[in-house]
Amino acid sequence: MESSTSDWIDVTNPANGEVIARAPSSTGNDVDDAISAAESTFNSWRLVPAVDRTQVLFRLKALMEEHVEDLSAAITAENGKTLDESRGEMRRTIENVEVAIGVPSLMMGSNLENVSTGIDEYAVRQPLGVFGMVPPFNFPAMVPMWFMPYAIACGNTYIIKPSEQTPLSQARIAELAVESGFPPGVLNIVHGGRSVSEALLDDPRIAGISFVGSSSVALEVYRRGTAAGKRMQCQGGAKNYLVVMPDASMEETVDNVLGSAFGAAGQRCLAGSVVVAVGEAHEAVTNGVVEAAKSVKVGDGTRPGTEMGPVISAASRDRVTNYIEQGVEEGATLLLDGRNPDGGDSGYFVGPTIFDDVDPSMTIAREEIFGPVLSVMRAGSLDEAIETIDQVPYGNMASIFTSSGRDAREFSSRVRAGNVGVNIGVAAPMAFFHFGGMKESFYGDLHGQARDAINFFTEEKIIVERWF
Ligand code: NAD
Repeated sequence: MESSTSDWIDVTNPANGEVIARAPSSTGNDVDDAISAAESTFNSWRLVPAVDRTQVLFRLKALMEEHVEDLSAAITAENGKTLDESRGEMRRTIENVEVAIGVPSLMMGSNLENVSTGIDEYAVRQPLGVFGMVPPFNFPAMVPMWFMPYAIACGNTYIIKPSEQTPLSQARIAELAVESGFPPGVLNIVHGGRSVSEALLDDPRIAGISFVGSSSVALEVYRRGTAAGKRMQCQGGAKNYLVVMPDASMEETVDNVLGSAFGAAGQRCLAGSVVVAVGEAHEAVTNGVVEAAKSVKVGDGTRPGTEMGPVISAASRDRVTNYIEQGVEEGATLLLDGRNPDGGDSGYFVGPTIFDDVDPSMTIAREEIFGPVLSVMRAGSLDEAIETIDQVPYGNMASIFTSSGRDAREFSSRVRAGNVGVNIGVAAPMAFFHFGGMKESFYGDLHGQARDAINFFTEEKIIVERWF
């Protein structure tokens, strides 16, 4: 359905600042139409057997595979990440469709015969209605797929409001969904920013909303949605710490730290932001990462050989640059300065930036920067490193690099983070595990992906049955 808007949002390519598309800023009527379509389609979609509902997802998977290159190109154009990173994102996107196809098994209930003489009791899972999704800009194709395929496979209908900065890949996926045979009204797209999210949050016809974005917005959205009586799951921002022990395999550790801090220009919610070097690990890991980071090729993500693309916008570049200035002012040692990098041309580029002598009280150690800035701090022991991480308000990911099973176990058990890496720089859960987050990185209880998503998108009914 065409939008009735007269208000259009420019979509820019962050590698050169050029406007590459315009998305409609959906009007109140547009949002109302989408919700009405989803609401009326729910009545018939929920009755389609699960094995038939998943047939459209099989076709969507096949079409996504067929279009992996043009979808990856769309991600790179709207977001800036390198083509290889976009292809990686597409793999994770498709993987979620694959897992959701297991719904006939995943959605099964349970039963017990003879709970009392001649009485059986069983539980069935049923869809709830219309669900909505508000994603961030950084994984524009993948994040909505942590939710949508599961919601739809369970028999709900769906509305996605892509990030206004990166709406292209999601619009393309919606076209493929139509081609896959999604009945009209099952999947709906509205575009825009905050006011469109709020229209979804306030509408009583929507049963629940999944949000992924920064923590302050996650909390606001969580409060607004729960106040309106909705099921909510809100994934927030991150400040991920990587602990490097003296017995770590240094070459692999340096590689992992580099990929974690500077992959996707540091714009991952699982990006390593602070290295806590324990004891003698400091010199080896710091020198190794600085040397490797110096040769990272920054530039347009479509160019062969580019290893790091731009950040999303001029505002984002300025924000990251301000953090670098603040780090210097607060007394950290700037080992590598990514401001105005070579190859930056006319886009929104910041090169790999590394600070040493960072203190846990400094702004760059506490706040999410969401750009290619890595801080290094020292700790005398694993205990001290864990205590430092305990003070951080976020709890998305924490990793340890060590060859000691004992230390790895101690760390995994004690650290309060939803995703824990052991000798892994980006501990991203596969789609058959849920995507966790603790502290201010998550508001809610059921997460995206896997069985948690099935539970979020269904309600369980208990039936107690006797026949005379
Ligand atoms: P953001 O919070 O600015 O925006 C996210 C979405 O919320 C967008 O679609 C935006 O239009 C909408 N929005 C903005 N303000 C709103 C408001 N007041 N009410 C309702 N909706 C509103 O985030 P971003 O800059 O697009 O993305 C980056 C953030 O996302 C980072 O903090 C990153 O850590 C986080 N993130 C988290 C995860 C995770 O799994 N925890 C994954 C990816 C990204």
